[in-house]
Amino acid sequence: MNERDSEQVARMFVEGGYTVTTNERDADAILVNTCSVRDQAEQKALGKMGIMGKYREQNPHIVYGYMGCMAQSRGKQLFKNIPHLDVVVGTQKYHKVFEYVDNILRRRLEKRMDHPALSLNLHGESVCDTEEEKGSQNTIRDHVAQENQTSAFVSIMQGCNMRCSFCIVPDTRGAERGRPIADIVQEVEGLVAKGVKEVTLLGQIVNLYGRTEFPQVDGKSPFVQLLEAVHEVDGLNRIRFISPHPIGYRADLVKAFTYLPKLCSHIHFPMQSGSDSILRQMRRPYKHAKFVEICQNMKAARPDLAITTDIIVGFPGETEEDFQATVDTVRELDFDNAFIFRYSKRRNTPAAEMDGQLPERVKEERNQILLKVVNELAVAKNARLVGTRQQVLCTGPSRTNRDRLMGRTSQNKIVIFDGDAERMTGQIFDVLIEDTTGFSLYGTAELK
Ligand code: SF4
Repeated sequence: MNERDSEQVARMFVEGGYTVTTNERDADAILVNTCSVRDQAEQKALGKMGIMGKYREQNPHIVYGYMGCMAQSRGKQLFKNIPHLDVVVGTQKYHKVFEYVDNILRRRLEKRMDHPALSLNLHGESVCDTEEEKGSQNTIRDHVAQENQTSAFVSIMQGCNMRCSFCIVPDTRGAERGRPIADIVQEVEGLVAKGVKEVTLLGQIVNLYGRTEFPQVDGKSPFVQLLEAVHEVDGLNRIRFISPHPIGYRADLVKAFTYLPKLCSHIHFPMQSGSDSILRQMRRPYKHAKFVEICQNMKAARPDLAITTDIIVGFPGETEEDFQATVDTVRELDFDNAFIFRYSKRRNTPAAEMDGQLPERVKEERNQILLKVVNELAVAKNARLVGTRQQVLCTGPSRTNRDRLMGRTSQNKIVIFDGDAERMTGQIFDVLIEDTTGFSLYGTAELK
């Protein structure tokens, strides 16, 4: 979601006549969009901004800003940590970033032109805006034009009303707020008109989209209504969504996978733990048996479905038996992949105050054990695909070898093959899978 929010901000700067540069030395403004999910991410954002302060020596008018979750949760305090910082903008104010930065930058440039001698005295101004704003979810809707873009992210909602005991998101992103279906469809139509073939619908709790704002219709949740509406867009081939919550996989959504063929055969389905006692401590409102049942129902609805998951190891109070229950569930459900996180304390969350905090050594050991199991399963699954034909959406040159092309299967597996980038990018065709190195597949394209 941060990537998508950053794109929206970049688009506003481009519209305002700025150019986006990847070289920070050339920049007149440097903005860091921050994540608070892990402490490590915050420390990285603080360190990076500290180091980049040196650019003001060559470029006295440069504007520095933080946006996003850490900006929201730390607010004005950040000015104390980073003296050269100019702008702090929270998660409901992305649409104001351009105005704040542009104003400061213009004032500085004008002052420098009028009074070059004052150039050392230009930095007494700063802006901090972390207020809530009604309707802010509707402001993440524009995209930066990219050559040969085949896939795009579409933000459908902001915030989360759940209160998982380890998570800082409800504090940094606010309450659930969905965008109207018609606006989302219009955005998707605009993307498809520019050549996009696949959209990923984004939300912190995406499959509960609109539950507090929009009514059910014919027993269908607002999310399923949205999927049906997006499915109608001509020229769109694939629909994905992240991140869902297990309680949002109700019968209507499971059924949608039987009659909406554009829905990709992949779900990311955060399990977090295989132990009921830990799930309870995490304030995740489902049990292990329910999670397994939903996976089984989803696979019955879509037999070639790939399921990936998120797991936290080393949550406070996690015993060897709890951890083993997670390992057993990972094996039982034969996940296609899993993102494993070592529990890390987040400020102002209930879990940070819980008894039974585990030593880092134990968390790391469990992380390694689980990682090994996940890798084993993923490698075996991909090996079973060798010799099959997979339908691939070609996204262009491979990131690691620009001479080859890459694409993704409906199950979201990366496939590498040879071909003509100009002709094949954005096309969907079969690839005969001939090899795998674990997580990537290699094959021969069969584009006629
Ligand atoms: S559902 Fe997801 S975003 Fe919401 S509180 Fe739980 S972990 Fe955080």
